[in-house]
Amino acid sequence: MAVVNLGSINADMVYSVPHIPAPGETLAATGFRSYLGGKGANMSVAIARAGGRVRHVGAVGADGDWAVRRLEKAGVECLHVAQADEATGTALIFVDPQGENAIVIHPGANAAVPAQALQDAIEGAAPGDWFLTQNETNLQDEGMRIARDQGLRLAYAAAPFDAARVTALLPLGLSLLVLNAVEADQLRRATGQDLADLPVTDVIVTLGAKGCDWIRGGQVRRFDAIPVTPVDTTGAGDTFSGYLVAGLDSGLGMEAAIRRAQAAGALMVTRHGTSDVIPTSEETDDFAR
Ligand code: ATP
Repeated sequence: MAVVNLGSINADMVYSVPHIPAPGETLAATGFRSYLGGKGANMSVAIARAGGRVRHVGAVGADGDWAVRRLEKAGVECLHVAQADEATGTALIFVDPQGENAIVIHPGANAAVPAQALQDAIEGAAPGDWFLTQNETNLQDEGMRIARDQGLRLAYAAAPFDAARVTALLPLGLSLLVLNAVEADQLRRATGQDLADLPVTDVIVTLGAKGCDWIRGGQVRRFDAIPVTPVDTTGAGDTFSGYLVAGLDSGLGMEAAIRRAQAAGALMVTRHGTSDVIPTSEETDDFAR
């Protein structure tokens, strides 16, 4: 089986700063790191590291070859990553000594994914494969519809939260919806509905160190997290979602897929960084033992 993932690809640029700059202020950073990011890219890397087959659909600018090479090196198929006339998406991240941050995102090429790339990727998929997307690219609605008509199962990580997008996509027949606790509250408010009443087969609400809830058929089941000492929680949600979809795609039942995703998420928060340090399946399975 395989996963077609329509998702963002960003250059994350992280500046360590003495404080978050005030308007008009020029500040010298005390440190700098840049890496491959974007929820879409992170989830594709997580699926590949989990041992799954993943075909990424997205776009980078003329300046984005490095990002495609990085994805390919992680085992992600990039035949349907197009080159757009926009710059590669960027996230400018300021982090102060207290860990407080301020982030500016420029979607760039992520908002210019060509319809043909999406069409080609889905045409190459087989019924029963998964279609996964988040809220950081264009074409989500089209992707869901084409994928559904092709018999793919639909998975949606509704982040960053966008009420209009989520409410438009919910009626399309989602198999899986993944939200974190904040997004779950935002969705309850936007729809005025309990999550258990949504027209989605499985809803997962991730709760950080508290684990996650699995909602199916009106029943809620809590899975406690694996206790760890976190050093950096960035990317835990993307790692969890990628592992979850990869597990389901490989034929695991929901309970087993959740447990594996929890192990990958817990291991991820013990590491600094994002896509580069997403755990491999061997590391995850060793850790879960
Ligand atoms: P982020 O936006 O930081 O990537 P998120 O808010 O989308 O994360 P979380 O709910 O924080 O997602 O984390 C996803 C999963 O990762 C959790 O359900 C849990 O299994 C695991 N996890 C996250 N934080 C911890 C922690 N401190 N200890 C153990 N497991 C954790």
